Amino acid sequence: MKHFLIILLFGCLSIKTYSQNVSEQLKRLKLIMLPETTFRFPVGDSVGNGYYIAKGFQEEHSYFGKHLGIDISGIGKGNSDLGDTIYSIGYGLVAFAYPDEYLAVYYKYNGEFLKTVYYHCDTVFCKAGELVPKGYPIATIGNSKGAYLAHLHLEMIKDTSIYFGGYGDSHDYSEPDAPLLFYDPEPLLPFHEKQ
Ligand SMILES: [Zn+2]
Repeated sequence: MKHFLIILLFGCLSIKTYSQNVSEQLKRLKLIMLPETTFRFPVGDSVGNGYYIAKGFQEEHSYFGKHLGIDISGIGKGNSDLGDTIYSIGYGLVAFAYPDEYLAVYYKYNGEFLKTVYYHCDTVFCKAGELVPKGYPIATIGNSKGAYLAHLHLEMIKDTSIYFGGYGDSHDYSEPDAPLLFYDPEPLLPFHEKQ
């Protein structure tokens, strides 16, 4: 009986490891199959009319030292953009979704993969493993339960490992070379103010 339980336990652990490997393989396969994408703006119409960049890439940040994403806010300022829809900027694969907080999506761009993280969401509509078309509603703008005025903090990370960037990730944002892991999202996104 004791041996049977040990074998059963070992069997369960093997199945768990096997299914994790399969999901990793599927994820890689989907990544390879993702079509090239051109980006839309993540809020408003495709070029973000009605919104502005409240804080740019690498601006000073009180907590992290350098701001390694961009903050997008509604031109009405304050919490006027609270609950506004956030759209997938391209055709992507959801890598990680944390309910009512943030989600990370892989995109294929110029033959490379990048991982975009959408932070401070009020509601997240997607789950990890979901394929999302360009312009698909994926979340709404939040204010981290009142910790900030509502805005979308958007990061684009060059590292497409299973880690999702930001909270809980292995990246130390205060490292001097941390900005090298990130893209400045602003030049990659179409934006009305540049036109
Ligand atoms: Zn920010």
